[in-house]
Amino acid sequence: MITGSVCNNCGAAWCPAAVRCASCGSFDLAAKELRADGVVRAFTWVHSNARQPSPWGLAQVETDDGVLLFGLTDGPLGIGDRATVGRIDDDLPVFVSGAGS
Ligand SMILES: [Zn+2]
Repeated sequence: MITGSVCNNCGAAWCPAAVRCASCGSFDLAAKELRADGVVRAFTWVHSNARQPSPWGLAQVETDDGVLLFGLTDGPLGIGDRATVGRIDDDLPVFVSGAGS
């Protein structure tokens, strides 16, 4: 599980936790534990020395709660595949292939 926030006005969920809802503008948000698994919506390799080893994977995963998460990967992920947060590294989720537990 990872922690995000949910809007008490419109029900939109955000991760990382938000101060203000980007959907309706409400400040009435509450902490929410989000599912760590979902569907890969985007994936790319990043060729940069900012992180080693290079290249490193970057993915966007839509969790089963409907929240879009950006994070790192240990290997290639296919768009439409299932992925889960395997660990947190430097405050970023690291996605691995599969449905998780
Ligand atoms: Zn809202």
